[in-house]
Amino acid sequence: MNSTKKIFIALALIVLLPALFNSVYEISSLNETEEMLSQMYTRQLDAVLFSVNQYTLDVASSWASQIENEFPKINFNRILQPNPSIRSIIVTDTSLVQMDEFPASTAEKHQNFSIHKQAVERLVRYQTLSYRKLEPVIISDSTFIILFVTSSPVKVIGIVVNNESFINDVIGKKLTDIAQNDLILCVNRLSTSRTVFSTDPSVMFTSAQQRPLWIFPDHIVQIRLKGTTIQEAANDRYYRNLILIVLLDCILVAGAFFVYRLIKREMELVALRSDFVSNVSHELRTPLALIRMFAETLEMKRVKTEKKKQEYYGIILRETERLTRLINNILNFSRMESDSRKNMFASADINNILASTLSVHKYQLEQKGFTVETVLAKDLPSIPVDEEVITEAFHNLIDNAIKYSVENKYLRVETSRSKDHILIRIEDHGIGIAAEHHAKIFEKFYRVSQGLVNTAKGSGLGLAIVHHIILSHHGTIDVHSTVGTGTRFTITLPLTQPK
Ligand code: ADP
Repeated sequence: MNSTKKIFIALALIVLLPALFNSVYEISSLNETEEMLSQMYTRQLDAVLFSVNQYTLDVASSWASQIENEFPKINFNRILQPNPSIRSIIVTDTSLVQMDEFPASTAEKHQNFSIHKQAVERLVRYQTLSYRKLEPVIISDSTFIILFVTSSPVKVIGIVVNNESFINDVIGKKLTDIAQNDLILCVNRLSTSRTVFSTDPSVMFTSAQQRPLWIFPDHIVQIRLKGTTIQEAANDRYYRNLILIVLLDCILVAGAFFVYRLIKREMELVALRSDFVSNVSHELRTPLALIRMFAETLEMKRVKTEKKKQEYYGIILRETERLTRLINNILNFSRMESDSRKNMFASADINNILASTLSVHKYQLEQKGFTVETVLAKDLPSIPVDEEVITEAFHNLIDNAIKYSVENKYLRVETSRSKDHILIRIEDHGIGIAAEHHAKIFEKFYRVSQGLVNTAKGSGLGLAIVHHIILSHHGTIDVHSTVGTGTRFTITLPLTQPK
């Protein structure tokens, strides 16, 4: 298993897996928590509904107690006046025959009480067990009677109550008191689906908790939170938390991926650096060996003809030039890394620079049998460049063209101009570069590790330096290359440097 795979597995085990497990756990417990919260709310609201019912019952019980306490000399006015929802009070015996009503109102008095006979019998039974139960019965749309039985003497009492007036005046006050700013409470009549009272009439009750009103048959009291219902609030919380968990997971995965990329890149750099050391050593050793060999031959005076001597001197000179270029490349690279060298711009003729660069490689090109084509534009203006470093860039590109051409040995150097730029093209018909490497060849130490490149030695710095030099001149460099066909580098340099 290679080291990047190991890093990936380590990251997955240390960061991603625990985070993922945690998220799955959080999401599954999220549902439970929301369920619990919802149940808690439900119970609280139930308690509120219970207290409303209890209060209503208390009010009715207090009326019943007052009547029973004053019996048989009931001061009806003292009961009726402060309680406008009570329309009248009916007193009758358990046989429901003799019936009195205060104040007398024929409508209620003539209600057929006999249909409630069973209810009355039940109340009497309770009374014999010393329990005064209140039994509500509906007698019309707007009226109902609270029936109860007194103990001594045993009489059936009916408190005739106006529904709406009781709900609005008595229960309404209590509901408004409870609701305050957080809740909305309302009382609905089931048979007509009509809202009799609401603490906030503008709100529709669609999904609310509800309980029947004990004392009012056919009526329910409903409750909900102001703004959102409990279910909506629980859903909201659920989705908000879910989004948060997913978001955190995404950030974590992105972070882990970023760390993985960073480590992978660093490891690649370390590997490239160690390749670089062995490549550079080789690059230094070859010219040194040649220089030494020819210098020794000359020193031993083994060379007979003057022509041969000149040839050997030439080789020594070129090899030292090659050494100088390599060392310059490394020095330039370290200056480039530390950003310590500033360009010294001076107006210069690009055609001249290219011609003198080519002349340095002339011998090598001839020796290797290159066909060289130079197409230099005649009307090129001089442009501001740092001649020393631009020369270095051209050297590197021509060096590469020579180094990476095996069968078809062809070099073309071309200049032209556009509106604001000078274009320089350096083209060969060599081994070419596969598309996947095009972006990477400009990175430091990067070498294509296939085919001839394994045998053609290099430092992997050449194009990184060229790229840096061209960018420092506010220019661009592009590569156009196909494997087996050749490579063309196109450089643009601006006619003027920005201030
Ligand atoms: P090197 O010292 O290896 O030549 P460079 O930075 O100059 O380093 O180039 C990086 C890589 O780009 C080379 O290793 C080679 O694979 C590829 N390359 C550069 N120029 C050419 C070219 N003209 N033809 C084919 N491949 C090239």
